[in-house]
Amino acid sequence: EEDVFKKIVSHCKEYGFVFPSSEIYPEGLAAVYDYGPNGVELKNNIKKYWWDSMVLLHNNIVGIDAAIFMNPTVWKASGHVDAFNDPLIDNRDSKKRYRADNLIEDQIAKYEEKIEKEVKKAAKKYGDAFDEAEFRSTNKRVLEHQKKRDDLHARYTAAMQGPDLEELKQIILDEGIVDPISGTKNWTDVRQFNLMFSTEMGSTADTTKKIYLRPETAQGIFVNFLNVQRTTRNKLPFGIAQIGKAFRNEIVARQFVFRMREFEQMEMQFFCQPGTEMKWFEYWKKHRLQWHEALGMGDENYRFHDHEKLAHYANAATDIEFKMPFGFKEVEGIHSRTNFDLSQHEKYSGTKMRYFDPETNESYVPYDVETSIGVDRMFLSVMCHSYEEEKLENGSTRVVLHLPEPLAPIKCAVLPLVNKDGLPEKAKEIQDELKFHFTTHIEAKDSIGKRYRRQDAIGTPFCVTVDGDTLKDNTVTLRFRDSMKQERVPIENLRGIIEDRVSI
Ligand code: ATP
Repeated sequence: EEDVFKKIVSHCKEYGFVFPSSEIYPEGLAAVYDYGPNGVELKNNIKKYWWDSMVLLHNNIVGIDAAIFMNPTVWKASGHVDAFNDPLIDNRDSKKRYRADNLIEDQIAKYEEKIEKEVKKAAKKYGDAFDEAEFRSTNKRVLEHQKKRDDLHARYTAAMQGPDLEELKQIILDEGIVDPISGTKNWTDVRQFNLMFSTEMGSTADTTKKIYLRPETAQGIFVNFLNVQRTTRNKLPFGIAQIGKAFRNEIVARQFVFRMREFEQMEMQFFCQPGTEMKWFEYWKKHRLQWHEALGMGDENYRFHDHEKLAHYANAATDIEFKMPFGFKEVEGIHSRTNFDLSQHEKYSGTKMRYFDPETNESYVPYDVETSIGVDRMFLSVMCHSYEEEKLENGSTRVVLHLPEPLAPIKCAVLPLVNKDGLPEKAKEIQDELKFHFTTHIEAKDSIGKRYRRQDAIGTPFCVTVDGDTLKDNTVTLRFRDSMKQERVPIENLRGIIEDRVSI
């Protein structure tokens, strides 16, 4: 499965979806990526699908587009200056840097694996007579591993509370965790590393200020709460949506666009009356899952992961996870953030962040439920789900992207069968009519088979082939990507057939 993932990554580059940043320079730039001509179309379609379902379809949700730079005190108030840290540790031999929490979590997973191995072994040995529950609760080796796992888990969770950096290091030493590269236990101390990027704003020594690149788009919404409420005259509950870039100096940046240092978020903050937040939390959980499922990428590929350990601002939190080739992974977070953010901004800015409720004649700081999804992770889940190396009946293989049709970068390719006899001109005429309604592409070179394959590889759901008969009777061959079936249709019907299936 790792192999499939590698193929998807190179497919993305080969077919103009995603390029590594600054690639012509030998070192490039790690964990930063550029989207190519097909990638940007797919990404824009994802954003439109989200924006429309949030802003267009909800009368009580409006959008904003806040700046990336903000007054630095915002990040003090939000907790990011003090608490947006990862605990880091270096191995002196390999000179590699790790997140201490990841090393310990991997160790916990190792105990799990040992338990599962014992269970599998016994199941094989005893066959039908095997009572798994009984085995798990009585087998000596299983119980030993379980105890080690639970003790480690408890010790780790306690150490992360502070976090207690010395204790984290001690755990790594006590567990005898080795660096996977050098194989040694030569660890440095654990230290905190803030994930925010900073830069300086201002031109003279005394006006220069340290400012940050926003690590989440949410705060741009909170600081504009009063502006938006006043100008839209929305009553609670109502939401504010935003799509924009966020920046995090991730330590372990890997898995392609899954974890990047510059990425894009689609966030919506839903403000409500105190005490109603759990109802809205449940509402948004359900609604967001439906949004994912409506793309038709298989309901079984999604699951919720409810958080036991909550961030300082939250009273409930869950992730929507998608099955990537490297396991179920978070794509979206849904958090009940209480009135934490607005209250903090009230405290730090001195501005009252209150809502006057005309029904109860009271003013209060609203509660907030957030839905936050990474555009790039969504992009990755769509690519991973769509990629197929399909074995055809004639024994050959075709690489095809079964993209949800509304998300495809190109909806329809218009292909003259041969590059002569008036067919290119006729194809151009057809394209000129269709291009005002959805994305099209025209291509005359190479054999028709090769051109079909190229369109399959970028996920184009429809190919229209123009041949000699077209000139006589104004019909074309319409080819469907997934089934490869072909149908003869009048040119005048094309727009309707395609629009029906690709509109978001
Ligand atoms: P993780 O635990 O994977 O680091 P997170 O819980 O820190 O993610 P949030 O702060 O909840 O993530 O951000 C909301 C969403 O933003 C995530 O669900 C994810 O889709 C996206 N996201 C967060 N960090 C990154 C990143 N480094 N690269 C790409 N997308 C990201």
